[in-house]
Amino acid sequence: MTIETTGAAAPKIGFVSLGCPKALTDSELILTQLRAEGYETSKTYAGADLVIVNTCGFIDDAVKESLDTIGEALASNGKVIVTGCLGAKAGQGGGNLVREMHPSVLAVTGPHATQEVMDAVHVHVPKPHDPFVDLVPAQGIKLTPKHYAYLKISEGCNHRCTFCIIPSMRGDLVSRPIGDVLGEAQRLFDAGVRELLVISQDTSAYGVDVKYRTGFFDGKPVKTRMADLCEQLARLAEPHGAWVRLHYVYPYPSVDDIVPLMAGGAILPYLDVPFQHSHPDVLKRMKRPASGEKNLERLQRWREACPQLVVRSTFIAGFPGETEAEFEHLLDFMREARIDRAGCFAYSPVEGASANGLPGMLPAEVREERRARFMAVAEAVSAAKLRERVGATMQVLVDHAPALGRHGGRGRSYADAPEIDGTVRLLAPQKASKTLKVGEFTRAQIVATEGHDLVGTPV
Ligand code: SF4
Repeated sequence: MTIETTGAAAPKIGFVSLGCPKALTDSELILTQLRAEGYETSKTYAGADLVIVNTCGFIDDAVKESLDTIGEALASNGKVIVTGCLGAKAGQGGGNLVREMHPSVLAVTGPHATQEVMDAVHVHVPKPHDPFVDLVPAQGIKLTPKHYAYLKISEGCNHRCTFCIIPSMRGDLVSRPIGDVLGEAQRLFDAGVRELLVISQDTSAYGVDVKYRTGFFDGKPVKTRMADLCEQLARLAEPHGAWVRLHYVYPYPSVDDIVPLMAGGAILPYLDVPFQHSHPDVLKRMKRPASGEKNLERLQRWREACPQLVVRSTFIAGFPGETEAEFEHLLDFMREARIDRAGCFAYSPVEGASANGLPGMLPAEVREERRARFMAVAEAVSAAKLRERVGATMQVLVDHAPALGRHGGRGRSYADAPEIDGTVRLLAPQKASKTLKVGEFTRAQIVATEGHDLVGTPV
């Protein structure tokens, strides 16, 4: 993704942002700082004085994409700074992987390193003398559409799941001060954001690293803790009628306190809980957080307290040593838990992950076959749950509405997070006077399902 702005002659920086929403928020912070200091951004490599590549290093395909992009930027421009997860990764020679592959890059940093990136930019393309500080919108620069935004509440992770290398790249959990997080949320709502997506590596652990210390927002004390954060976000969202959606929540008992907020409509009744598996022995081999929790019972209690709750999750099929019985346990869990939206990866070793040393690596065909069997069950559950919505009237946030939606458009209900879930295809409104606008809510009567999506008539 490249970004463009226009204006008077000022140093121009090209920017390529790869990777997950957490990387996207890092990009936004760097872009905001660049703009604050008076730099411009360039749409093309050739038109830039320097190029920053924010990389992803999570899976092998992402590593390849990142390395190819760096190579392309070097060939077209020559002056390249690399940041992001791949920048923290060691190469085969024991040094830095990016430097081993592309020795001519000017600087390499890990993720969440706005200041280091800016320091490197200052060395190679000095700061303009007259920063256009007043050109920076108060909410910073966003790479998402104007009506939704990701809010990163912490960086890093205290867990050590055996299949994951994120902690080695991003370090232990560091929670952002609650006052900063709420201040950013306030600015985003004021700027027109209608859906705030809370992200981190482990949202339920927010504040653990600072022992839930008390911070301040609006002159009042607030604890750095998930429940307090959710209450405050709900309070800030309410005057705007905006949604607050939670991602990466682990099934800890503390989450029980959030469910009443969902039942009351203050926070969207949507939980993204990455279960990864159901069998206790597999979860132990994975070293998953909350592996000792009784997940099925907990889910059932959440649903009793909040019947409209939608649960999204991801799973891994064919983890090393997974027996057929353990896999069947996962299929049974899926049927009973009725997870609304499930994704599944066939296990694949990630360089540097400790799971690579576990015994019982399964052949690729078995891993893939289990993934396909899992997805068949997951899709049947999901399709049945979608069909239950036909006839209901749902609130829909409009993402796409050409010609004011006179011929219809596309949006999402509370059950659909952007990019990862389904959508609601909006038919032409029945009333000729009704229009649809991107970033506004409409109500829609659901008339059909279409794969992972719903079809609705705006009312
Ligand atoms: S919880 Fe596990 S999978 Fe998630 S970032 Fe931490 S170590 Fe990785």
